[in-house]
Amino acid sequence: MAVIGAGSVGVAAAYAIFTRAAASEILLLDRDTARAEGHAMDLVQGTALVGRINVRAASYPDLARAQVVVVTAGRSQKRGETRLDLLRGNAEIVREIIAELDRHAPEAVVLLATNPVDILTHLAVRWSSRPAGRIFGSGTTLDSARFRALIGSALDVSPRSVHAYVLGEHGDSQVPVWSHAALGGVPVALEAEERKRIEDTTRNAAREIIARKGHTDLAIGVVIAHLVHAVLTDERGVHPLSVPLEGRYGIGDVAMSVPCVLGQHGIVRRLAPELPPHEVAALHASAEVLRAATRDAGLA
Ligand code: NAD
Repeated sequence: MAVIGAGSVGVAAAYAIFTRAAASEILLLDRDTARAEGHAMDLVQGTALVGRINVRAASYPDLARAQVVVVTAGRSQKRGETRLDLLRGNAEIVREIIAELDRHAPEAVVLLATNPVDILTHLAVRWSSRPAGRIFGSGTTLDSARFRALIGSALDVSPRSVHAYVLGEHGDSQVPVWSHAALGGVPVALEAEERKRIEDTTRNAAREIIARKGHTDLAIGVVIAHLVHAVLTDERGVHPLSVPLEGRYGIGDVAMSVPCVLGQHGIVRRLAPELPPHEVAALHASAEVLRAATRDAGLA
């Protein structure tokens, strides 16, 4: 597997993949070659304890056999910015990377994490000649993990036993799907005030972390490792991933998160759980935010 962009997120992902020994090879590629080399040299020193994993800095031709490539290259939001403010600059970076990957790793499954992830996924699918389902975004996997952790803590149960999704934009218009939130098949029953607190905390999580440490990287690293493991093991678990909606819920011309089955060739199936009208309306509003930002950046 390979990680493009050996910044905070790329390295957190490589570290999480390494410590869970999720891949036999981890290639790091960054336009700052020394940074990729330094991180690879640092990580490889742990192999005596973790196992025989080939970790090294790489260039595009080295990626020919990579089964999965994670793209984390690009700028992250600073205090006071939203993810949508990153669009123009990061679109150029992702466009260049997609062209290199189409040339050098046409078979790989490509997982995008660079923000704004939904719009960049929509554009990357358009720019790439890769088969459908082989490019997708991490979408609301991180937001859903935050949501489940908060519900688990409110109910004093393991978040792993909380089945709940945040769908739509990985951003401020995200849609917490309370209608399907369940614990052992029993719908989650929380007071309206507690639900609002959980929604707000989920939506503002990145902002709060950035206000304190300047960026987010550790939980997204764990999320990426989880998704890479799902591809490399053909897991076929369900994850909320950013994909073109192609008419689901009557929404088109946009990529955003719906629950997807993930396996060795990427997205195997996109699911469209039945939702109450107010949640469908919220998904439409989320899609419009993404379309408007794409138009405003001159990328529609
Ligand atoms: P960073 O600035 O620490 O690292 C970015 C890296 O990308 C740098 O090392 C830079 O040299 C490299 N880079 C830039 N252009 C490149 C190119 N053309 N080819 C190769 N490498 C290139 O940023 P970060 O904190 O690691 O964040 C990376 C991205 O991940 C941001 O867009 C951020 O918003 C996003 N992110 C996504 C999620 C998510 O849930 N999807 C969560 C957190 C952060």
